[in-house]
Amino acid sequence: MDFIDLKTQQKRLRSLLEERIGAVLNHGQYILGPEVQELENTLSRYVGTRHAVGCASGTEALLMLLMALDVGPGDVMVTTPFTFIATAEVIAMLGAIPVFVDVDPETFNLDPEKLRLALEALKRGDPSLHPFPNTARQASVRGVIAVDLFGVPADYSELESIAEEEGVFLLEDAAQSFGATLHGIPACRFGHAAATSFFPAKPLGGYGDGGMCFTDDETLAQKLISIRVHGQGSHRYEHVRLGINGRLDTLQAAILLAKWTVFKEECRLRQNVAARYMMLLEQARPDLVVQKVPEGVTSVWAQFSLLAPSMQERDAIRERLQRAGIPTAVYYPIPLHLQPAFASLGYKAGDFPVSEDLAKRIFSLPMHPYLKPEVQEHIIEVVKS
Ligand SMILES: *Cc1c(COP(=O)(O)O)cnc(C)c1O
Repeated sequence: MDFIDLKTQQKRLRSLLEERIGAVLNHGQYILGPEVQELENTLSRYVGTRHAVGCASGTEALLMLLMALDVGPGDVMVTTPFTFIATAEVIAMLGAIPVFVDVDPETFNLDPEKLRLALEALKRGDPSLHPFPNTARQASVRGVIAVDLFGVPADYSELESIAEEEGVFLLEDAAQSFGATLHGIPACRFGHAAATSFFPAKPLGGYGDGGMCFTDDETLAQKLISIRVHGQGSHRYEHVRLGINGRLDTLQAAILLAKWTVFKEECRLRQNVAARYMMLLEQARPDLVVQKVPEGVTSVWAQFSLLAPSMQERDAIRERLQRAGIPTAVYYPIPLHLQPAFASLGYKAGDFPVSEDLAKRIFSLPMHPYLKPEVQEHIIEVVKS
């Protein structure tokens, strides 16, 4: 059994994929060919932003946004410790300081109340109010990166008003949430700009790396387009700023255009799979708590994640499933504030108790649009036994 089955989808789309790939082989524009713009136009129309800029990965999308916003040394960027490393890695890569704020215990997303507290603590320079790295004392808060964990959009009505009150920008790490909605508004349209990923296992995944930035801000979009190609100016060998090689491959764009044809249907199928898991779990194991999908949210269920009552219980369930040939995963076993890579920030165990508790009890079951009801029943049977 696959944790995420990509084969069934490929079987369905094989001829369309070959047609799209064949078209690229025929025209030969492997770098920023017409498929890149076609994908940007298609996805920006779906999301509802004025601009979309394809890039090499979700990580590069986040990096390019921070570069375009001139984030660097002396800046603080606030984010969650309960996310993939990329979210905070790009902050530190630019010499800025990641300041972590704990998550909501039910949605696993950035907790707006704790964000308010952290901003107050930074203003007063008082780490007893909320922990922050020593180096953040002399730095200024530039912005917040919220993460839509496992496909559930963060609490943007609260986060957007905090960002506005504080005069900082808000970015949406929508790497896991492309296809989700909040009050009917698609993920990737929140905050000042958003970044998504087309890593193969994401809801809209290619056959390699890829990503995209979304924004309504024309100036920001033009900067992103320049940064994507080494800070290019009015022609290829004029460089008006430092940039990166952050382009989305034409071949990946072509593959994503083929996959786009079934994406909305796959989002609906994901709803059915998640609803069936929840129904089965409610009967078999009401003590296991599924990630909360708040009122007004449609999750895209990038992961189906749940909490066991204890770490021992989680590990026992996972072992049972493994013996039955059913793969599971733990996202994320180590919160970012306890990662060796961030040791220099000076955080310690106990700083973010919700994230630390989630890391011990969370696990994810196989999740993809083509999961059959009888397979789900079997999985929950094993979870129960
Ligand atoms: C996958 C992911 C990224 C990075 O995307 P890549 O395309 O793998 O670089 C960033 N943030 C989160 C939350 C992710 O899940």
